[in-house]
Amino acid sequence: MNKSISIIGSGFSSLSAACYLAKQGNKVTVFEKNNEFGGRARQLKAKGFTFDMGPSFYWMPDVFENFFNDFNKKTSDYYQLTKLNPGYSVYFNDNNTIPIEDSLEKICERFERIEAGSSDKLKKFIHNAKDNYRVAVLDMIYKMPGESPLELITIDTIKKVRYFLTNIRREVRKDFKNPMLRAILEFPVLFLGAKPSDTPAFYNFMNFADFGLGTFQPKNGFYDVVQGMISLGKSLGVSYKNNSDVKKIITKDNKLVGLEINENFIECDIVISGADYNFTEKLLPKNLRQYSENYWNKRTLAPSSLLFYVGFNKKLNNIEHHNLIFDTDFDQHAVEIYDDPKWPTNPLLYASFTSKTHKHTAPEGCENGVFLIPIAPNLEDNQQIRDKYFDILINKLEKITKQDLTDNIIYQESYCVNDFINDYNSYKGNAYGLANTLFQTAFLRPRLKSKKVSNLYFCGQLTVPGPGVPPALVSGKLVSDLVMKYEEN
Ligand SMILES: Cc1cc2nc3c(=O)[nH]c(=O)nc-3n(C[C@H](O)[C@H](O)[C@H](O)COP(=O)(O)OP(=O)(O)OC[C@H]3O[C@@H](n4cnc5c(N)ncnc54)[C@H](O)[C@@H]3O)c2cc1C
Repeated sequence: MNKSISIIGSGFSSLSAACYLAKQGNKVTVFEKNNEFGGRARQLKAKGFTFDMGPSFYWMPDVFENFFNDFNKKTSDYYQLTKLNPGYSVYFNDNNTIPIEDSLEKICERFERIEAGSSDKLKKFIHNAKDNYRVAVLDMIYKMPGESPLELITIDTIKKVRYFLTNIRREVRKDFKNPMLRAILEFPVLFLGAKPSDTPAFYNFMNFADFGLGTFQPKNGFYDVVQGMISLGKSLGVSYKNNSDVKKIITKDNKLVGLEINENFIECDIVISGADYNFTEKLLPKNLRQYSENYWNKRTLAPSSLLFYVGFNKKLNNIEHHNLIFDTDFDQHAVEIYDDPKWPTNPLLYASFTSKTHKHTAPEGCENGVFLIPIAPNLEDNQQIRDKYFDILINKLEKITKQDLTDNIIYQESYCVNDFINDYNSYKGNAYGLANTLFQTAFLRPRLKSKKVSNLYFCGQLTVPGPGVPPALVSGKLVSDLVMKYEEN
């Protein structure tokens, strides 16, 4: 194929699609509105601190490896990975801290100490999750562009149909009684953007990703992956243009002919958009949009987030690289995200300090903290609210880690709903796309190929397979397969 292909956005799905299509001989250009590439995975550098602005949990290393292998490369050709131990720690009330160590055996021992009999149940649970991982992540998602319900019907999925009819919460609660163990086992599906009670049990493959494969860290943070993919793309001939804001998709007779970018017309044969789906359709005349505002309003979005990037002028005690502060009622926070959207009464918190294991990401003797509170999309966002939650989280952290922190803050930046909208044209300020509920899975998600504009395609976390960096890599592959299928001649 020798087509001129323009890709909107430089998130992981766009970077992935660019590589696959350039490998096929196409002339590929990636247009990114921001100065930095990487989409939601940009990096912030300030006062000697390095912060990952978005993703931080490097899970499913095999999906990253598969991506680079498709180009006869390895991840290690581009960046160095270390397996973290513990992968992360979870903090509950009454000084209960549970580290999730780097092997299933160690995690089983830990479970057994908390609930007698739970280690055997955990082994069985993870054995089953591993099989779901084999079916879903190593096979199915690469074959499911979401064009037809038939894609879902395989011998493996028929055997596993019961896991689509029940949810993660029910499965976990059947076997585990201790509330801390239940919370730990329900945590991984939060990456899919929905409540555990709304997520099919089949998605317990996330538990295998967590306990069976572990948590990894690229040497300089997640941005290493962005740079690796761009470096690969350049070697394949991809052009990357930053500060290139796509304002319009120009069409003629239900076909697109080019893009309006910074007031210039760029002619092309095919466009793939990795920008938020709803936003991309707004670049088209109304009659060429597939999904109405009403359709989008009825979707379950993944949460938005309130984030803080904080530099401390000392090393912190009693804290790990990744930390989940689960000292409050998980269910109430979930209701305030999904059912009755409002700022959380008593938020759960995620805190990450890459400088704990990778010292060079903060100045000597300092620590870099990234804090994340998941919130409902579209909430009112202003400085006063951000300040209020910053005080709450610092107080929480001081209490849990038993140290003073307020006077040691030498850098602070926040990021929330308004920034997601302004920086990424994010629909309602969502942080990670469209949730993977049963009715938003596979062919029930917005399509990769437009039904109305024949040479327009989509990729990324609002289409198939769904939220997260590994799915974004797969999304780029799926959309490039479709382009090759439909545009070959
Ligand atoms: C705070 C946070 C934490 C996360 N944590 C994790 C994690 O730990 N692990 C994990 O696997 N995943 C995590 N995720 C999810 C993961 O980061 C995303 O699912 C993934 O990066 C999305 O990639 P994407 O290809 O859909 O595009 P995006 O990253 O959404 O990129 C879209 C790009 O399009 C650009 N764009 C928009 N409009 C235009 C325009 N008009 N012209 C040109 N360009 C445009 C945007 O600027 C952006 O660069 C997290 C996400 C966030 C926000």
